[in-house]
Formats: sequence, C-alpha cells, structure tokens
Amino acid sequence: MVFFSFTARMIKPSLIPRDYKTPMNNASTKGKKTRVPAMLIGIFVLLIAVFYFKDTTSSVQTTPAGNDDRRPHLITIPLPDASGEESNTSTPNVNIQKSVTTSARPAFISKDTQRKYTVKSGDSLAKIFSKLKYSPTALHNIMQAGAEAEQLKNIKPGQALRFMQNNNGNCTSIAYDIDRVKTLNITSTEFGFVSSISEKPVEITHSTASAKINDSLFYDAKQVGLPDKTIMELANIFAWDIDFSQGLRQGDSFTILYETRHIDGKQIENGNILTAEFINRNNKYQAVRFVSEDGHAEYFSPDGKSTRKAFLRNPIDFARISSRFSLRRKHPVLSRIRAHEGVDYAAATGTPIKSTGDGKVIFRGLKGGYGRTIIIQHGQKYSTLYAHMSKYGRYKKGKRIKQGQVIGYVGRSGLATGPHLHYELRINGVHKNPLTAKFPAAKPVTKNLLAQFKQQALPLLAQLELAKEPTSSQ
Ligand SMILES: [Zn+2]
Repeated sequence: MVFFSFTARMIKPSLIPRDYKTPMNNASTKGKKTRVPAMLIGIFVLLIAVFYFKDTTSSVQTTPAGNDDRRPHLITIPLPDASGEESNTSTPNVNIQKSVTTSARPAFISKDTQRKYTVKSGDSLAKIFSKLKYSPTALHNIMQAGAEAEQLKNIKPGQALRFMQNNNGNCTSIAYDIDRVKTLNITSTEFGFVSSISEKPVEITHSTASAKINDSLFYDAKQVGLPDKTIMELANIFAWDIDFSQGLRQGDSFTILYETRHIDGKQIENGNILTAEFINRNNKYQAVRFVSEDGHAEYFSPDGKSTRKAFLRNPIDFARISSRFSLRRKHPVLSRIRAHEGVDYAAATGTPIKSTGDGKVIFRGLKGGYGRTIIIQHGQKYSTLYAHMSKYGRYKKGKRIKQGQVIGYVGRSGLATGPHLHYELRINGVHKNPLTAKFPAAKPVTKNLLAQFKQQALPLLAQLELAKEPTSSQ
C-alpha cells in the first residue's frame, strides 16, 4: 500500500501539471487583461476606505486605553480547583470559565450575567457582536488583547462563545473553547482586555483490550473497539518479530493495556500502549513501554531487551520478493548458473530504499553489474549492500546513517532485467540470507535504569495478565 502511494506521488507531479496548467494559465491571463482598469479603481477606493476606517477606530481606541503600551498582554490565570468556588448549578464547563473570570475580577462578578452564543454559518465576530448589541469598540479592544486573541478568528459554526456582560450591557469577557482541552479567555481588567489560555485537567486511566485473530489484525482489533491509531501502534511495537501482512495465523491473539484520556469524565482519546502481548504461531511476544532519561519512549521485553532489532528484515515496505537467496540459480541476464547471494525486491522505479540498520556509508558509486550501489557498514560484524538504484539518497560516503533512513531509490542500473532492488547482507564478510539471519536486538534498557524499569513493568504486566483471562477461557 505504501508502495503504491509512493509511486503515485512520484509519477503524478510530472504528469498532472502538463495536463491542466496550460489552459488554466490562459484563462487567468485573459481574465486579468480585461479587468485591470476596474481592479485599479477598486483597489483605490478600498485604500481610501481602509485609511478612513483605521483613523476612526484608532482614535476611538486610544481614548480609553491610553496606557496601551504598559498593558500586559498575557496574564496566567491558574485553574481553580473544584472546591474553591461558590455554589454554581451550571455544567463543569461553565464552572471553569466562571471561576477564571472570578479570579480576574472578583469585585464585579455579582453584577455580570452570562450569555452563551452558538456560532451559525455565515457568522463573523462583528456580526455576532452586533447581534448581541455589543459595541464594535469592545470587539476591537478584545482583538487587541494579545496574540492568543487571534484564535477568535478561527470560530466555526456550532462552536460556542460564552460572554459575560455588566449591567450596562457591555461585554466584559469572552470565553472560547479552542479545542477539547484549551479555552481562550479574554477578560476586561483595569488595564483593558487581557487574554489567557486555560487548560482543562486531563485524567488518564488504564484500559485493556484483548482479541483473537480470525480475519486480520486490523479487522479483529476494530471489533473490540480499538481505534486505528492504537492498532498501528500495536503493529509497530512488534514489527521486528511479527510479519503482520503475511505471518498471522488463525488463533493468534493479543492483549494490550493502554491509556485513555478523559476530560470532565468523558473519554476523549486513547493514549499510549503501556504493555502489550502478542501470541503469533504459539510464540509469545511481550513489550513494556519505558521512558528513558532523555524523555524518549521505547518498548522493551519484560527483561529489558529492546523490541526493536539492530536490523529491519526488509529494506523496502510491501515489495514483492522476486528472487530469493540461493547458492545456485541461473542468472537472468548472463544465463549462467551462479549463486544469488542476496534477495531481489521487485518494485517500481523510484520506490525509496531504507537502510536496514544504523551504520556508516562505506561505498557509494557504480559497481559493475550492480550499477548504482551503496554499501553500509554496521559495527564490526555486519554490512549491507543495495544495488541497481536509479538515484542515491542524500548520504554520501563516510556519512553516518540511522535505521530506516532513505539511502536511494529503486532502479535498473547495471545488469538488471527490470527495476528491482538487489539486497545483500554479510556477517563477518560472509554472505548470509537476510530473510532468515538471526539479528541482535537494539540497545536494552541501560543498566542504571534496569531496576527502575522492572519496578514499573511488574504491575503493568500483572494488569495485562488479568485482562487476558476472558479470552483464554473462550
Ligand atoms: Zn539480485
């Protein structure tokens, strides 16, 4: 699938512009010619209007807010905890908004009343203000209340704006939920309007899911209510050990313990997978998430080994293997019997080729029948070779490279009957079958963190074990 989208992307840009650009350009230039005088007059009129408007608004604005420059543009208003506020019958949502206003202007709260407005299609802030009979000056001053106020330009139909107004019917504050977590508050203070962004507390709980594979990982995981994001994460965790596209068997199963995020008691999204177990062909794989000192999260087996391997099994995603490693085969071009000391992946010209491991580029150039070739040295023992490229990536000889980085693109340079990648793996200088070679794991949990890791992993694995019970008794 990835392979198809890549080729589509590679081919389309060169074809499509030629197909439609020319007529489009013609049309637009034709239009421009006839409209130029009319447009000039239009721009002129517009400029006069803008200057006039600017003058009037700025003179209105400078009177009340003469101390504009000293006005703080951001006041951080801490979210109050639930206990602090006086009786309030409205929803928790409103609660937060109201208490924010309270902490900013405690003296006026009793006089102010709240109005809620739901944005309708075709609404602009100016329209809304005029509907609610608030002055344009108030709107102008609100829009000047600091950089966050710009968020008000993003209002969409269906979203709610919560206003506070005083006895004179003037708007004294506005609250706008930017998303499920963040709320923009703009409040009138003695310094003029100031803006702040408050965040609702997100509560994280743990959930479990467990399923047997009958159809595919994707289908069966969806059946137990897991969203795409979590399923992809699960597949990524075990990608080095399990071939999810072809290696699953009926009766395989998985169990995961994952985070769910809640706001005001409502679930908003799934978070990270904390522990996971996958049974594939009676082999049990387990992974525990652990955040290292530098804040980088990775998955490890319960004994602290990385679930990643030092090598990816394949340098191309979802390509067809067109020729396997064999010590005797008839060469398709030379028609002689000789060993095929690598694996061929048939793929469209231009398909990206990834380095299968961390390492250093030790060769980049033409190499006889191999055509455009890159060789990467991985530590002392391992090296990989990638041949017949159409184009190199940006890593030159001598450059360090990370696993998964694109080193070049599939082609048919050298002796090749069609576009494909010829890929070789050598261990201690000897050719090995990259599809069956045993690869070492990536770096384990560092020794000084191992005790901490195990302490965290134990209760998580215990929760996972409990989640498994219903499926195992099925
Ligand atoms: Zn080959």
